[in-house]
Amino acid sequence: MIPYGKHHIDEDDIQAVADVLRSGVLTQGPAVEAFEQAIAEYVGAKYALAVSSGTAALHLAALVAGVAPGRSLVTSPITFVASANAAMYAGGRVVFADIDSQTINMSPDSLKVALESNPDVCAVIPVHFAGLPCDMPAIKAAADRVGAVVIEDAAHALGAQYSDGQKVGCCANSLMTTFSFHPVKAIAAGEGGMITTNDEGVYRRLLRLRSHGINKLDDPFEIPEQADTGGVRNPWYYEMKELGFHYRITDMQCALGLSQFKKLDRFINRRRDLVARYDEAFVGLANCRPAQALGRDQSGHHLYVIRIDFDAIDMTRGQFMLALKEKGVGSQVHYIPVPAQPYYRKLGHRPDDYPAAQQYYQEALSLPLFYDLAPDEQERVISSVKALLS
Ligand SMILES: *Cc1c(COP(=O)(O)O)cnc(C)c1O
Repeated sequence: MIPYGKHHIDEDDIQAVADVLRSGVLTQGPAVEAFEQAIAEYVGAKYALAVSSGTAALHLAALVAGVAPGRSLVTSPITFVASANAAMYAGGRVVFADIDSQTINMSPDSLKVALESNPDVCAVIPVHFAGLPCDMPAIKAAADRVGAVVIEDAAHALGAQYSDGQKVGCCANSLMTTFSFHPVKAIAAGEGGMITTNDEGVYRRLLRLRSHGINKLDDPFEIPEQADTGGVRNPWYYEMKELGFHYRITDMQCALGLSQFKKLDRFINRRRDLVARYDEAFVGLANCRPAQALGRDQSGHHLYVIRIDFDAIDMTRGQFMLALKEKGVGSQVHYIPVPAQPYYRKLGHRPDDYPAAQQYYQEALSLPLFYDLAPDEQERVISSVKALLS
């Protein structure tokens, strides 16, 4: 069975993790900082903070952006639930802005409408769907007009670049960018996430929130009389300044992430080649087309999604997926629109309010895309899909 996605681990990765296990330090050691530094340098951001997951990264970013009871954030309906859940963790509310049918990313025009009718919005979370960068200048301009902070959900987009050549994560048009290192993403740390920013105040706040809200770096003490005895600093003393979390990541995970990171460009080049072959196979077919045809040189190529007119081929998507499975080809749907989830329906959200997302969802199918997908396996995927279409 060919899965839709899969990580690639080599002996260097195994050695990197084993080295940590032999080093005597399992967490908060040198691998965390080394991984953070490598990512910050690569994306071109001043600061990077590693956390336990991409979801934790979104949660902390939403808090720093000011999401709280009475405040809301806007995100795309076509994303993993975590982008929206960040609002709920922070005690706020989520608003959705429909997608652009050509990019499957948040439409800046829909965002403007959402911002006009929701004056409590303090953050916007565009999602670089399947690795294709969003129209960040337009999103940033719309957010600036209402004083909202931009947080890029780049869980799909490590290694992607904007049309001006800058790397996703440089935060040129956002306050923060979040990444995920779950095994299906560009590089794997087992579990893990990262937040990049150019703002020192944001970085310091994130550093505290990652570890219980306890003071970090040279944060001044709030109660100096507890901190000193006779003018001498008490060596055991620390202060918890706000309610933070335990969202730290281990050295084993960061050593794996760093070792994987060294292969990132190789991983992405391979994905780009596979995508080019798929595009060649699926362009010009009846009832089937690539969901994203733009920005092929910019994308991180996390997913390869085709859109099929299932009514026209007189098959349900479930039947189509089962038929592929019988030929040994795995497939998946990314994503069920978040407002269609029972939890969000109960909060009053309706998927029908986002017609472009609904239309996309009816037709979407993700095909296998990963570093180790062999040429003959890819040809099997292509011929299996084509056979079902005719
Ligand atoms: C994977 C993913 C996340 C969450 O990342 P985890 O590391 O699994 O917590 C958030 N947003 C999107 C778009 C994702 O694909």
